[in-house]
Amino acid sequence: MNQVDDILSSGSGVAGDDNLARVRAIFEPTTVAVVGASQRHGSVGRAVFKNLLDGGFSGVIYPVNVRAHSVCGVRAYPSLSAIDDQIDLAVIIVPAPQVLQVAREAGQKGVKGLLVITAGFREVGRAGLAMEEELKAVCQEYSMSLVGPNCLGVINMAKDICLNASFVRRPPLPGNIGFISQSGALCTAVLDYAARKNIGFSKFISVGNKADIDELALLRYLHADPETKVIMMYVEDLRHGFEFIDVVREITGGDNPTPIVAVKSGRTAAGAAAVSSHTGSLAGSEAIYDALFHQSGIYRAQTISHLFDYAIAFATQPLPKSNRVAIITNAGGPGIIATDITINVGLTLAKFSPDTTDVLRCTLPTTANINNPVDVIGDAGVDRYKAAFEAVLKDENVDGVIFILTPQSMTDIYATAQIIPALAKKSGKPVLTSFMGELDVRDAIDFLEANHIPHYHFPEMAARAMGAMYRHFKWISRQHLPEIEITPNRPRARQVIEEAIAAGRTYLGEAEGNKILEAYGFPMLPARLVTSAEAAASAVREMGRSVFKIASPQIVHKSDLGGVRVGIATEDEARAAYDDIIGVISENAPQATIEGIYVQQMAGKGVEVILGINRYKVFGPLLMFGLGGIFVEIFKDVSFRVAPIRHNAARRMINSIKAFPMLNGARGAEPCDTNELARCLILLSALATENPEIAELDINPLIVHPNGMGCSVADCRILLDLDRMK
Ligand code: ADP
Ligand code: MG
Repeated sequence: MNQVDDILSSGSGVAGDDNLARVRAIFEPTTVAVVGASQRHGSVGRAVFKNLLDGGFSGVIYPVNVRAHSVCGVRAYPSLSAIDDQIDLAVIIVPAPQVLQVAREAGQKGVKGLLVITAGFREVGRAGLAMEEELKAVCQEYSMSLVGPNCLGVINMAKDICLNASFVRRPPLPGNIGFISQSGALCTAVLDYAARKNIGFSKFISVGNKADIDELALLRYLHADPETKVIMMYVEDLRHGFEFIDVVREITGGDNPTPIVAVKSGRTAAGAAAVSSHTGSLAGSEAIYDALFHQSGIYRAQTISHLFDYAIAFATQPLPKSNRVAIITNAGGPGIIATDITINVGLTLAKFSPDTTDVLRCTLPTTANINNPVDVIGDAGVDRYKAAFEAVLKDENVDGVIFILTPQSMTDIYATAQIIPALAKKSGKPVLTSFMGELDVRDAIDFLEANHIPHYHFPEMAARAMGAMYRHFKWISRQHLPEIEITPNRPRARQVIEEAIAAGRTYLGEAEGNKILEAYGFPMLPARLVTSAEAAASAVREMGRSVFKIASPQIVHKSDLGGVRVGIATEDEARAAYDDIIGVISENAPQATIEGIYVQQMAGKGVEVILGINRYKVFGPLLMFGLGGIFVEIFKDVSFRVAPIRHNAARRMINSIKAFPMLNGARGAEPCDTNELARCLILLSALATENPEIAELDINPLIVHPNGMGCSVADCRILLDLDRMK
């Protein structure tokens, strides 16, 4: 098995028994000590202790406070060691300088999990970071798991546990959403908002500085949790690359899939300075996170409110089994808006069966639109809505319904809401609603939300949520393409790389870069380096129509300086072109060392694309694909994936660019050889994964010939950097 296969098949069981036990130590304790529990009103120590008490925790709670005899009526202990009971979880709220001491004491007492709420660690600078490292070390020494430091706490709503170890102001309602947040402050706002919308949670976690337990561990835990149906995540940074993808794609799309919706904020520098490559300038942390989420099957929401909008749909509704949506409305405009977004997000308007059309024709007035979007007309009462709703739900050409109401003076708003939950449930299809307005529709919205029917203030959001559910359905039911076999000559490529490093060269131009690509099995064109006009002429005699390119380690963009001539067909042209290029370059770049002219056979016709690698700390190599030539910079029409990738991802990279029709035979053009292109992407992935010195690489262009005729590498540059990963 080669190294890439090794990485690709590393999924060592999604949950990871050890991981589960470690997270359980925090979420499922039977005894909890609150170190720093306090009587003082307004203190965090009091808030946490009171939440634990009021939450109805099923186990035993011990307040620890050096001075107090009791906290909130519960006998207090001066230290952890003074408690004559085994402690599973220690919640730590003491000032930062005392945390290490308490952690050690906990370790000695055999505590299994620490929840450090105290702030003043990594987030305050170097001294804090050092303290956090030490805290981590103590936890490792005593095999304690750790959530935090610098967090709001955790909540487990499971009925047999009821653990509210946090200082949230308002405890959540029980429900089936697991929420992971990197911002503590956001947690409290989220709970307030959720309460208003009757949204309940299974687990609620503020991860803080993530010194030990992080999103990945929590996602595994929540996936294994029978009460969590969907996971909502607020992320500022992730600290895993391919491992994250490897585990999370099983969570979202393997057996027993759990949808994950995430918001990522904060444009953290991803730690790579782009030097000369196109890939470098187009990639960036946004591209990485998009790729990470995409490959993991995580649905990325743009805002916090969207995060909720999607999560509620996943939490309460079945997934649509295909993309055919019915819209019911009593007003034209909102129906049109919903239709537009429905189409935009990859759904279609269902074509009703003749039976449905008959029912609609009989029950709706002649002015009504009996086609999709169904317009029951502004004066519609409950019966019209009901007849239409029943008919479309029953139609086997309908996979989901968007139910819109605008409050006209004759509309019976509340009664209309009342028909929805039971019919929706019976149908087994997703139903999303939008009762537009604010005051008059309030009671009806409350009713819908209390009955677990998602409601959106505007119909376009309902359409977006339906689109997200459909995308998830596609993800969980996706087919896996047979893998593409590759047989790279790895030792040969290593040799070229190591020779360059030994000679102190980190920038490899086309001639040297091509040797590496050739060793990996990329489709190369015959080429050779020549140093005289005569040699250039004989090269053209042998190879036929050729391209002449200046070979100089200082010249990165050859044609910008007049260093490329295409279509050299005769020996005379060759001699002239040789002298010409040398002359032009001597003038345009007098400092450049000229090694000669790289004579390369002219490729046949095809579409020029770019393939690239840009390597990042933590995340590893990011692969890029897009249209080549000048288009790449103007349109930025590119797709990214974190390496390594499989055949499925390679195909998605290719067909997700906007210009894909150009490769697929748009307007009578010949379709290109996307099979060979996919193979090149798999080779690129292997090259990136197996050679950590390659920091940046551009193949620009790769020429993709008509179907069956392969591709040709027509330029490349590689930047080596031994430190990029450190
Ligand atoms: P640079 O990117 O350094 O300016 P290239 O080697 O990419 O130089 O050449 C410039 C352009 O010439 C390419 O984008 C491509 O359109 C064309 N070209 C280069 N080599 C070939 C070739 N062997 N066959 C066909 N076209 C080529
Ligand atoms: Mg080029």
